[in-house]
Amino acid sequence: MSGLEDAGQQAYELVRELYPFCRSISGEGLRETLRRIRARIPIEICEVPTGSKVLDWTIPKEWNIRDAWVEDRSGRRVIDFRNSNLHVVGYSAPIRRTVSRAELLDHLHTLPDHPDWIPYRNSFWDESWGFCTTHRQLETLVDDAYEVCIDATLQDGSLSYGELLIPGEDAGEFLISIHVCHPSLCNDNLSGIAVGVALAQELARESRRFTYRFVFTPATIGAIAWLAGNEPVTRRVRHGLVLACVGDRGHVTYKRSRRGDAPVDRAFAHVLEHAGAPFAIEEFSPYGYDQRQYCSPGFDLPVGCLMRTPNGRYPEYHTSADDLDLVDPAAMADSLAKTLGAISVLERDRRYRNLSPKGEPQLRRRGLFEALGGIERRRDAELALLWVLNYSDGRHSLLDIAERSRLPFGAVHAAARALESTGLLAEE
Ligand code: ZN
Repeated sequence: MSGLEDAGQQAYELVRELYPFCRSISGEGLRETLRRIRARIPIEICEVPTGSKVLDWTIPKEWNIRDAWVEDRSGRRVIDFRNSNLHVVGYSAPIRRTVSRAELLDHLHTLPDHPDWIPYRNSFWDESWGFCTTHRQLETLVDDAYEVCIDATLQDGSLSYGELLIPGEDAGEFLISIHVCHPSLCNDNLSGIAVGVALAQELARESRRFTYRFVFTPATIGAIAWLAGNEPVTRRVRHGLVLACVGDRGHVTYKRSRRGDAPVDRAFAHVLEHAGAPFAIEEFSPYGYDQRQYCSPGFDLPVGCLMRTPNGRYPEYHTSADDLDLVDPAAMADSLAKTLGAISVLERDRRYRNLSPKGEPQLRRRGLFEALGGIERRRDAELALLWVLNYSDGRHSLLDIAERSRLPFGAVHAAARALESTGLLAEE
């Protein structure tokens, strides 16, 4: 098994391990998830107390749930939280009483178009209660009254998030943000966590140019809480990425930062264009994952978003069908590989200066053509030498040159290294 295949398999194992926990934007399911992440990479678990003002928002009460059910007249549990945590609307207020069938149906969510799937719903910002179930089951609820119980607490506590810093040579930071607040949903949520953990493990293996900061945080309110507490850090962010929905079998989709042409946008576009597989690149929109916080105009950080099939565009999205069968170890390995590819471009991107800029220097005399690569790559290698020499005027970086020449970054980088070794090129 290759290293990448192995990483994909380990990511899948982590998805499987985290799948049962009832996560939300606060509470023990979220904390347990962060502890499981911490068992693999040394994140620090941070707590932001209920009532804290974070930018324009306030940290809500902490939600914890022990059990929930709907019982029919014979005392049989017809809906049972222990079968699926999606059965309870996230952040439901506690309740225990008899309700009429009509009242129950007012609080019951189903998907008539997918009668065997349970929808995922939450109500973070208004205190209410609700259940979700399959439409097929709803059709069997014919009693005139039901006993409902949500054994949950909404109390002062805190919102938890996890953070890991992997220091590099440069104080400039690469921010990687992953949401961790969805219950038993695999692609939307757990795939991002699992690929993020694998990425952190890979980045920690050798010394790096950038400092990498991973933030595992509840969507929206968690990212806002992190931004509120880390404004000085945001000024050091050179590149950033949100990872979400990176485990399904669809092709890769990269959504650009609000800036549109940030180095991270260009690095991903370059890697995807040269990868030889279908992909999509989308422009920024203030909708979707936590890019919308990092790219809000007061921060406008260069943060892109890597997905496979984007949120809302696969039928299983936010339903019980976003399960262990929807995510694939090979897809997670591929998402990891493409992210590492873009990071490798950014790590190696430099500006150089041609030290012999008048006329072309004589390359054959310096053995440069022979030094580069095998036969089939040879044309790229020769072209790359000429492109690097011509555009290394101190203004164009290797990525600029790769884009202009349409050569793979690796060939341009190899040419620059070779030219540097013969004294024809110096780093700016
Ligand atoms: Zn979601």
